[in-house]
Amino acid sequence: MTSPDIVIIGSGIGGATVASGLAGSGAKVLILERGERLAASHATRDTKAIFVEGRFRPKEMWREAGGADFNPGNYYYVGGNSKFYGAVLIRYRREDFLAMEHFGGVSPAWPFPYEELEPWYSKAEQLFAVRGALGDDPTEPFHSLPYPFTPVPDEPAIARARNELKGLGLHPASLPLGVDIEAWLGEGRTPWDAFPNTGSGKMDAESAPLAEALRDPDITLLTSAPVEWLDASADGRTIVTVRYRYQGEAKSVSPKLVILSAGAINSAAILLRSPPAKGKGLANSSDQVGRNFMNHNSSAMLAVDPRRRNDSVYQKTLMLNDYYLSDGKGGKPLGNVQLLGKIDGSILKANVRHAPKFALDFMAGHAIDWYLMCEDLPDPESRVTVDGERIVLQWRRTNLESLERLTKVMRANFRACGYPIVLSRPFDKRTPSHQCGTIRLGDDPAGAPLDPYCRSFDHGNLFVVDGGFLPTSAAVNPALTIAAQALRVADHIRRKDLAR
Ligand SMILES: Cc1cc2nc3c(=O)[nH]c(=O)nc-3n(C[C@H](O)[C@H](O)[C@H](O)COP(=O)(O)OP(=O)(O)OC[C@H]3O[C@@H](n4cnc5c(N)ncnc54)[C@H](O)[C@@H]3O)c2cc1C
Repeated sequence: MTSPDIVIIGSGIGGATVASGLAGSGAKVLILERGERLAASHATRDTKAIFVEGRFRPKEMWREAGGADFNPGNYYYVGGNSKFYGAVLIRYRREDFLAMEHFGGVSPAWPFPYEELEPWYSKAEQLFAVRGALGDDPTEPFHSLPYPFTPVPDEPAIARARNELKGLGLHPASLPLGVDIEAWLGEGRTPWDAFPNTGSGKMDAESAPLAEALRDPDITLLTSAPVEWLDASADGRTIVTVRYRYQGEAKSVSPKLVILSAGAINSAAILLRSPPAKGKGLANSSDQVGRNFMNHNSSAMLAVDPRRRNDSVYQKTLMLNDYYLSDGKGGKPLGNVQLLGKIDGSILKANVRHAPKFALDFMAGHAIDWYLMCEDLPDPESRVTVDGERIVLQWRRTNLESLERLTKVMRANFRACGYPIVLSRPFDKRTPSHQCGTIRLGDDPAGAPLDPYCRSFDHGNLFVVDGGFLPTSAAVNPALTIAAQALRVADHIRRKDLAR
């Protein structure tokens, strides 16, 4: 392809889904992806290789602002972080689009309501073949279409946990999942959460929207093509050149439209690295690029009963939203509770290195492993900056009181369900799994780099479609909301004929 109409930077959830929405439009689209396709190997289903040796982590180092360098859990492959994701494909709740008072401050309103995104959520659920059930979750927003497939079944220990929670008067519900469980287990009897997908069992950005997009001969993927920066025109109104490397050589391309989808942290870094070198970068007259970094406040909670084994293989089929909109007593919201993929002794050992492995194996074999997730609020001082090539992350956490309270209430619930030992540990600060907010959308160019269709207020031919556009983190997993908005943006580009 000599001169594409549109260049998409990154093939993760945002980039691949916007590409699928542009398929059949007649526009020539080039996707520039920094990584390669993940190949199947023994290591892709080996907990030691994944969690202890960190075999799939990138070679690069980031820096904690004012602190040490660290190797981030941020994955560069075709499909991006979604190759490793837990495939929970859940909608933000209706209330997440409105201003909401939390213990740590106010979560601001989106520039449009849930109803605006609803049809696109339904389309995204079809695209990712989501398995789920409507009707059990008290916070469930309106769905114009049912889930395309029935839920992934609970394993016996989880079916029991579901009944125990119901016995407390709570409302456990099936997690909406992009997982074909027979296909996944057919390729190896392991959990899928944090395990790389190299087959058809997990609906990730590569296996679902990218596969669909690449059926269009006008859409091309170029791998091992990291984008370095963008150049704006002399008057600053448009992006004229995308600068990238391919096989070690500096390359450039000049499309009519640029869609930046490198993930919330890397997209901000690309804009901040763009000339003028000592300025604020591109798309940044609001001075908000890189700011408002959010990543959820979350903990792992192990409910252990030494008398009962948990023989689950995958485990991850339940969630609880009884504390999502309030603390259960009419107070402020706490957050979402969902299962983790089944943890084993090796995964625990990677986190608690001093403990003997046999004790960790016993603990893992008798635990049900939960994930507690609370909203992180936008703070302009929580930010991504760049120091030459290096990404510098200053994550100022907010709203930690919600996590403390959720931990307390769930510990009491699991004890009441008969688990005598309940252990919890906050997730590592250096794993930016749910990164978002760094290039947010909004109504006001003074407070947001992007308009409600993810178009840069500064440069008319630049869109940013990845976790960066999210103005709030809510307290649910982000991928489906990124995908729904990506489909909405693609439709907007087509209807307005913006690639001409
Ligand atoms: C272990 C794990 C579990 C998770 N579980 C869930 C879950 O269950 N549900 C959920 O909703 N979310 C989950 N997430 C989060 C989810 O994966 C992300 O929210 C989602 O992938 C973000 O989409 P994105 O488009 O913003 O970025 P990504 O999907 O990460 O895509 C960014 C893409 O850009 C590429 N790229 C980066 N820099 C450049 C560059 N300079 N040039 C060219 N290409 C570049 C990357 O290689 C990547 O392909 C999980 C994440 C992790 C790590």
